[in-house]
Amino acid sequence: IDIIGAPIFDERNMLKGAVLLLYDITHLKKLEVMRKDFVANVSHELKTPITSITGFTETLLNGAMDDKETLNNFLMIIYDESSRLSNLIEDLLTLSRLEKDEFKLTRTTINFNRLINEVLPIIQQRAEQKGISLTTDVTKDITMHADGKRIKQILINLLTNAISYTPENGDVNLSITDEEENVHITVTDNGIGIDQEAIPRIFERFYRVDKARSRDTGGTGLGLAIVKHIVEVHDGKISVDSKLGEGSVFHVLLPKYDKTSP
Ligand code: ADP
Repeated sequence: IDIIGAPIFDERNMLKGAVLLLYDITHLKKLEVMRKDFVANVSHELKTPITSITGFTETLLNGAMDDKETLNNFLMIIYDESSRLSNLIEDLLTLSRLEKDEFKLTRTTINFNRLINEVLPIIQQRAEQKGISLTTDVTKDITMHADGKRIKQILINLLTNAISYTPENGDVNLSITDEEENVHITVTDNGIGIDQEAIPRIFERFYRVDKARSRDTGGTGLGLAIVKHIVEVHDGKISVDSKLGEGSVFHVLLPKYDKTSP
C-alpha cells in the first residue's frame, strides 16, 4: 500500500485533522511481477533451443559430421529445435497482437463446416501418426459473426492439444452445436486428463503440467493462453471438465453476434 498524508488546519492555524490517502497498489505490483516473470520465461524458452542448436552445430563442425549417421541425427535435432523456435516466436507475436489495446477483430459471417474443412487437413496428419480417431459432429450449417482466422486458431490449438495429450489409438472429437444466442464448441479426448488443481493454471502463459511431455510434443506452453484471449475478445467463455487418466473436455461458448456494435 502507498500512503500519502497531509495535515488540515483551521482558520486560526490550529491543527484540525489530517487526510490520508491509501493507494492499494497490490494489483500494480502483481502486474509488475507478472511482467518480470514473463520476460524471464520468454528468455529461458528462447535460450533452450538456441543452446541446443549451437551445441550440436559445434560438435558437427569439430569433426562429428564425418560420420554420416551422426550428421543425420544431429541435423534432425537442429531442424526440430529451429521449428520449436519458430513456433514459439509465432505464438509470442500472436499473443502480443491480441493484447494490444488497439486490437480489433475482423468479423465476417463464418460458416463452421467450411472452417472445419480448412482445419482438418492441418490436424489429420498428426492424428493419423498416433492412430487417433478424429471425429467431428456439426449438427447443421452453423454460422456466426466472428473473426474466422482467430476461431480457426481456437480449433487448431484445442485439437492439437487433444491429440498431443492422448495416447496412441485414442479418440478425439470436435462438436459444434447451435445454441440460439451462442455457438458451443466442444473438444473431447480420452487422454491423460488434467489434475483438478492444475485446471485453473493451464491458461497461464508457459504453464505446463508436465514440461518434458509438452516439449516432446513440440508445445510452446502458449496455446491455451492464446485460446483464452481469443475467446475473451469475442466475449465468450471457456471451461474444462477433466479427470486424470480418463480424458478432458474443453467447452467454448461464443456469442453469435457482437453485442457491442449497434
Ligand atoms: P502446450 O504447448 O504445453 O500444450 P498449452 O497452453 O496448449 O501449452 O497447454 C498448457 C498445458 O495444459 C499443457 O502443457 C498440458 O499440461 C495441459 N493440457 C492442455 N490440453 C490438454 C489436454 N487435452 N489433455 C491434458 N492436458 C492438457
